[in-house]
Amino acid sequence: MVPARPAPYTSPPQRTPIEEPVGRILAIANQKGGVGKTTTAVNLAASLAVAEQRTLLIDADPQGNATSGCGISRDDFSAHTYDVLLGEATIDQALVRGVQFRHLDVLPTTPDLAAVEVELVDVEDRVTRMRDALAPIRDRYDVILIDCPPSLGLITLNMLVAADALLIPLQCEYYALEGLSQLLSTVQRVQDSVNPALDVDAVLLTMYDARLNLSRQVAADARAHFGDRVFQTVIPRNIRLAEAPSFGKPIVVYDVASVGAQAYMAVAHELIARMNSAAPDASAANPSSQAAPDAPAATSSASDPASPASSHDA
Ligand code: ATP
Ligand code: MG
Repeated sequence: MVPARPAPYTSPPQRTPIEEPVGRILAIANQKGGVGKTTTAVNLAASLAVAEQRTLLIDADPQGNATSGCGISRDDFSAHTYDVLLGEATIDQALVRGVQFRHLDVLPTTPDLAAVEVELVDVEDRVTRMRDALAPIRDRYDVILIDCPPSLGLITLNMLVAADALLIPLQCEYYALEGLSQLLSTVQRVQDSVNPALDVDAVLLTMYDARLNLSRQVAADARAHFGDRVFQTVIPRNIRLAEAPSFGKPIVVYDVASVGAQAYMAVAHELIARMNSAAPDASAANPSSQAAPDAPAATSSASDPASPASSHDA
């Protein structure tokens, strides 16, 4: 039923050296629309906060679905991601603190954010705006998650420059891996220019349906290409996950007993374990752990000298 699939891209992206800790600033990115970026951003952030990780969720998508999905309305904030990127507010001024959980802060957004793509186009430091804005506050958090829009424009580029690593949600559907080469070559360009430490730390399989050959095939393909960077936990297709945003609640608040909530909690625990095992001492002490994400993977050193600014923000 499922046809044999050609390899959609030639090589996994470069790994950072083993002594690099797994990134604390994770850009949740995939330029393909509707693959579960926002669902992952909101529910992983909430699950991390439940696990007492000091968590910041940045809504970097003009659609603002992460903002509303956390139950934040326009009356709750005056400044937002747009103002931060334009230099009109600091992150501290724009943050909404203690959202649903004591340990969850959110940088909200509005549709105004879309204008950044045009308004920053001639600004010299346009791709480092978010990185610079985060610098004074990043140490306050254990994890910072960024919900990226479904494009590879200037907003996403800013987030890739600011991030330590990518978390790529992969929907278990046909063509899931198609188009990833475009994302990975953008990552490569960012590595080669402004952010050499950027890496793909994690791939999360979303909307998995164990009854479908197709889901199993996509999972197998992803594990073949990304190895132990794919979370062991898969996110099942779960109607409760789709319902929760309309109530402005993360799944752990909306229905903690649902399989969706349990899956995102499990991903949060995997991520925490990865971050802990990537600490220099722990990685040396735990070389055989199957879940350790920091085992050196097959690497490619292919480089693409094109500057991200020149190719994405014109
Ligand atoms: P965009 O590219 O537009 O930003 P996205 O990648 O952020 O989209 P989501 O908004 O998270 O994707 O998900 C797309 C749709 O699929 C939403 O309606 C969401 O509620 C639903 N959805 C996401 N994950 C699941 C799941 N595991 N089970 C059922 N529905 C899901
Ligand atoms: Mg989204």
